Amino acid sequence: MRVIIAGAGIGGLTAALDLHRAGIACTVYEKVPELMQLGVGITLLPHAINHLAELGLLDTLDRVGIRTERMIYRTRQGQDVWDTPRGIAAGYDVPQISIHRGDLQSVLLDAVTERLPAGTVRLDAALESVTQHEGGVTAIFRRADGSHFTDCADALVGADGIHSALRRHLFPGEGQPHWSGLMLWRGAVDWPAFMDGRTIINSGGIARKFIFYPIGPGNTPGTQLMNWACVVRQAEPGAPTPGRESWNSEAKQEVLLPILDDFTVPETDIHAMIRATPVFWDFPMCDRDPLTRWTHGRVTLMGDAAHPMYPFGANGAAQAILDAEALGRHLASGAVLEGLAAYEAERLPKVNEVVANNRAGGPERVIDEAEARAASLPGGRFDDLEAILPAAERDAIVNGYARIAGFDAERLKRTA
Ligand SMILES: Cc1cc2nc3c(=O)[nH]c(=O)nc-3n(C[C@H](O)[C@H](O)[C@H](O)COP(=O)(O)OP(=O)(O)OC[C@H]3O[C@@H](n4cnc5c(N)ncnc54)[C@H](O)[C@@H]3O)c2cc1C
Repeated sequence: MRVIIAGAGIGGLTAALDLHRAGIACTVYEKVPELMQLGVGITLLPHAINHLAELGLLDTLDRVGIRTERMIYRTRQGQDVWDTPRGIAAGYDVPQISIHRGDLQSVLLDAVTERLPAGTVRLDAALESVTQHEGGVTAIFRRADGSHFTDCADALVGADGIHSALRRHLFPGEGQPHWSGLMLWRGAVDWPAFMDGRTIINSGGIARKFIFYPIGPGNTPGTQLMNWACVVRQAEPGAPTPGRESWNSEAKQEVLLPILDDFTVPETDIHAMIRATPVFWDFPMCDRDPLTRWTHGRVTLMGDAAHPMYPFGANGAAQAILDAEALGRHLASGAVLEGLAAYEAERLPKVNEVVANNRAGGPERVIDEAEARAASLPGGRFDDLEAILPAAERDAIVNGYARIAGFDAERLKRTA
């Protein structure tokens, strides 16, 4: 069997490693002529790390990323709502790792280059369309100079991201992604380490949020590469998107700095952190309505092409990695049609639930609840968290999400 993968992002490269592990040949075609270190931080939760460790990548990830050991959810006013250990400190067998997306992509690309035959990853090849015939697929690719070429294989996997050409080909009437009404600013900067150097601080509910956490070592002593993100509601969900969401739309400090006045973050000077960030990006936070099918005969979707989701709960990359694992496992039998159908049957219902949950804020909804219940109190501050939002309710939101997304510690131990 030979499989064509469209897209050399996190999902496509992991799928190449998984197919190779299953003894299946593949070629990865990537639209961009050069893979650059785009994006900022990505969180890899234990279910994703579990699989990347199976692929023998844990030591490398450890060298470039940061083991996250603590997560604090708090209100904009600076009151803690949830403060828990993460990764191994939380009883998992594997860590949670925060990492620059470019570094993660490089780790995966290096592994593909080392393990798979030369020429497996081909750049400057944008999937345009596909036809299926008895016994195979023919994919048509376009180069940046406008020329075309084709390739034939037993199956085609669309790992081509939120603007997936394959998805458009399969669902021509679908239209643009759905805007949440939320604008997201993201950046990363060398910054003095705070607390234990392994903590995520997540302040504010879905409509106004600031998050920061280290994703790698810094360039000078005492610093780390600090990832930050700010979310602000600008419209109601479903409003027309203000411009195409792209991962490299540069943003302006004048817009963001006044918004930061709304947050109480004693651990560091967030205004200074943003002022020190040389370039950062804005991104209308989008997803798409869940699909009822990904697999069409010999063709299927995975990762953001199948299920783009809001980043609440930090599951976008993780779910793409779990898709890759399932693809490799189901295709290992050698039966293409049955394998792709079984992959969809296993993954689609689970991931669609994550997409729906993320629309409501994912586990971070616990902050919205606390802010809403404290809203009528003086200064929007509570004296007794337990009285306004009991631990059992907080647990149901946060750990309920972990169960839906498949990374609760008990489940990971059972499936180990
Ligand atoms: C440039 C970039 C920066 C990002 N930065 C962040 C970030 O900072 N934080 C975060 O949480 N998430 C980020 N993401 C999204 C994140 O990588 C995904 O949500 C998640 O990892 C799922 O991965 P994926 O492989 O499905 O999609 P992606 O990682 O988006 O990969 C899709 C790949 O397909 C390629 N592609 C697109 N169209 C075609 C085509 N027609 N033919 C062939 N190839 C095609 C793209 O160039 C890309 O390499 C970024 C994505 C991109 C593309």
